[in-house]
Amino acid sequence: MSRRAGEQDNEIEIREELAKRREQARLRHSQLRTDERDRLKLLHWMRCPKCGAELSEVQFRSVKVDKCFNCGGVYLDDGELEQLTGKPGWFEGMLRFFRGV
Ligand SMILES: [Zn+2]
Repeated sequence: MSRRAGEQDNEIEIREELAKRREQARLRHSQLRTDERDRLKLLHWMRCPKCGAELSEVQFRSVKVDKCFNCGGVYLDDGELEQLTGKPGWFEGMLRFFRGV
């Protein structure tokens, strides 16, 4: 098997694992009571998933990116990655914008 074929096989396995995890997360979330879902949303809304600090929205091109100024994390909401990709140089632009390099 070539290295490229091996990488493709690995990517297929990872995609299958991600689909499984996505479905498990949806199922677990759907089984929570409404008040528990509301409590979790209130607790975590606009909080950094890594350090817990408050997130700030920063306009980057057409997307409001969530930025943690405490640990430097940068987060995208569902669908925002799709809004950015396909535009030439978006990733390098994002690095310069958020890292200041
Ligand atoms: Zn953080």
